[in-house]
Amino acid sequence: MDTGSDHPETLARRHKCPACFKQFKRKEHLIEHLKVSYHSVHQPKCGVCQKHCKTYESLHEHLTGPLRKACCSKIFSDLGCSLCFKIFDNPNSLTKHKEGCCLSAPAPSGIAMPCAESQEKLSGVVVKNHTGRGHGAVAMDCEMVSGGDNGSLNLCARVCLIDEDENIIFHTHVRPQFPITNYRYDVTGLTEEHLKDAMALNEVRDKILQILYNGESVEKLRLDGGKARLLVGHDLEHDLDCLRMNYPEHMLRDTAKYFPLMKTNLVSHSLKYLTRTYLGQVTSVLVLFCKLILSNTGKLAILLAIIIIILDRICNLFWGLWNYQAHKIIDQAFVHRYDIQSGVHDPYEDCVAVMRLYKRFSCQLDHVEEIGTQNITGGLESYMSKELMKMSPSELYAMSRSNYRCWCLDSRKIMQP
Ligand SMILES: [Zn+2]
Ligand SMILES: [Zn+2]
Ligand SMILES: [Zn+2]
Ligand SMILES: [Zn+2]
Repeated sequence: MDTGSDHPETLARRHKCPACFKQFKRKEHLIEHLKVSYHSVHQPKCGVCQKHCKTYESLHEHLTGPLRKACCSKIFSDLGCSLCFKIFDNPNSLTKHKEGCCLSAPAPSGIAMPCAESQEKLSGVVVKNHTGRGHGAVAMDCEMVSGGDNGSLNLCARVCLIDEDENIIFHTHVRPQFPITNYRYDVTGLTEEHLKDAMALNEVRDKILQILYNGESVEKLRLDGGKARLLVGHDLEHDLDCLRMNYPEHMLRDTAKYFPLMKTNLVSHSLKYLTRTYLGQVTSVLVLFCKLILSNTGKLAILLAIIIIILDRICNLFWGLWNYQAHKIIDQAFVHRYDIQSGVHDPYEDCVAVMRLYKRFSCQLDHVEEIGTQNITGGLESYMSKELMKMSPSELYAMSRSNYRCWCLDSRKIMQP
């Protein structure tokens, strides 16, 4: 952003970006900015001022961060959902919305804790024929153990696939093709006993491909997917690698690679972080109390609030030191958390989390492009600078195109006849 004199005359001549509101002294600079910003209706937006942000994390900063915009922040704290960022007309509809929006961890899959007796049941059971709507997405998660000569190989030891309604389609242990050096028991909960008679990797891969292809031909899958399933996961490259499997890039929906869900510097967040931030909320009673005081009284209350925050921090510190059961009771009484991967990882739990994230962020009905703008291809790059100089900022914005494929396009495809 250009800096300089804030004299009213200078301000009046400034060129403002209609999407992120940055101001530029020269039109050329605004055009250059728009060329590299890839603004579009698909970017995360403030429900109050409509400012476009690169990621949900920067939108969060805009609404609640230390440099938050005061008017947006006020309306958001009264009427906004902190999980999906929607703004509501009145507190009642917000409360009603939150009942459905704030989720908690699913009940264990029932075959979550592998043991020798359940081995037969677990080894390669297709629990349900998949009947997903339209394009239909499938979420997948693998648990890995270490193997190979120096233990540097990630070997797939367990895999789970679920449909959009969180039903298990396929869940099995996998027999490793190389000697295992470390079962990573603390994380996987697996021992030699679990894997010795499990399904072979190539058999597992064939089953998974059969589920994903859904009877579609390879040609059609590579072209537009046809009736093949979208594959949802977190850091899917890693999972596909350990399964020694390929699936076309355009069919992958990866919560670690999706721009709006990444950090502002475009590094991935962990699935644990995404789940806590966008699916379920940590709401301490003390923090709520503090908010209430701040909204109702004056400066004295701010001091009181600071004391409460400090107390809350100390409490949090001590909670961490308490034993698991005590922690759980306090959790149920005062805090709502949607936490995953806290002990032994359950691939079903991770599958549910990624599927919920995918569904939440693909259901963005406000991403509507203005009529007439959908068919302009090429975006700003295809125009001569002379032509661009003649256009107004809003005309320039209307031609700007997103640099990632928004997940909302998946649900639009389903809605088409
Ligand atoms: Zn901008
Ligand atoms: Zn969109
Ligand atoms: Zn705003
Ligand atoms: Zn919400």
